[in-house]
Amino acid sequence: MIMFKRKCSICTKKTTKSLRREYVTDLGKKIIVCLQCAEYAEKRAFRKA
Ligand SMILES: [Zn+2]
Repeated sequence: MIMFKRKCSICTKKTTKSLRREYVTDLGKKIIVCLQCAEYAEKRAFRKA
């Protein structure tokens, strides 16, 4: 069975379903961001997916 372990796009730490957010970059790329990096993502003005 394949587990989809999604890592934070910023710090590359593993994220869990309840502890991550999805954002869309300026380039329209969907990224996964952990809560710790969410603040950084907000500053970078990534849109919430
Ligand atoms: Zn992170």
